[in-house]
Amino acid sequence: MPISDLTASAFDAAVSARLSDVRERIAAATATGGHGQTVSVIAVTKTHGPEAVLAAWRAGVHDVGENRVQEAEEKMAEVSVPVRWHLIGHLQRNKAKAALRFSLVHGMDTPRLAEALDHVAATADVTLDVLMQVNVSGESSKSGVPLDQVAAFADALHGRSHLRVMGIMTMAPFDAPESTLRDVFRGARLAREQLQGAGHPAPWLSMGMSGDFEIAVEEGATHVRLGTILFGERS
Ligand SMILES: *Cc1c(COP(=O)(O)O)cnc(C)c1O
Repeated sequence: MPISDLTASAFDAAVSARLSDVRERIAAATATGGHGQTVSVIAVTKTHGPEAVLAAWRAGVHDVGENRVQEAEEKMAEVSVPVRWHLIGHLQRNKAKAALRFSLVHGMDTPRLAEALDHVAATADVTLDVLMQVNVSGESSKSGVPLDQVAAFADALHGRSHLRVMGIMTMAPFDAPESTLRDVFRGARLAREQLQGAGHPAPWLSMGMSGDFEIAVEEGATHVRLGTILFGERS
């Protein structure tokens, strides 16, 4: 039975059971990986309704990810539970102001976007938490900073005093062999070391989705972004 056909309480129970399973798998992967990190689950609710946010909240997940600003804002208006909203998708510079509604922006991928984000944060007199998105695999279809530009971007970010650079986000190629996934996740971890070397706090690594989160956790992920495995296939 598709999860969307379940009644509300059965939907909550299904999400909760799936989450228990995910948490066990994360614990096992954390032990195997040996990086000693704490892992947060971000429930990716894109294409699902507000009931997905509520089910995640009731199951104990307080971080929710959306990849489109407009869809996120609609859902924000429909739920009152105080989840932390993560913007995990690409953000256009002309929509930078919307970043203020999120607790973490995962997709800071160009110096020009950083400039726009710093400007809106300065205007609002806040500090905005951001992740630098890196494109480790070099796939042209993926956004993200190429690895050889991370150091220069990290230095330039010192001038963006209203941004707090909390780490790295990356997306691995879809359906790649495990060795490729590991290379991508390790590359992201090395990029985080570059941020730290440049003096940014950068405690976080946002990587791993439904199909590859255990490998990501083994390689040091602190935030996994999970949609399908919690809520079923997107329609
Ligand atoms: C949709 C999405 C996810 C979740 O993907 P699943 O495979 O459904 O877990 C994670 N990260 C980003 C950036 C996404 O757009």
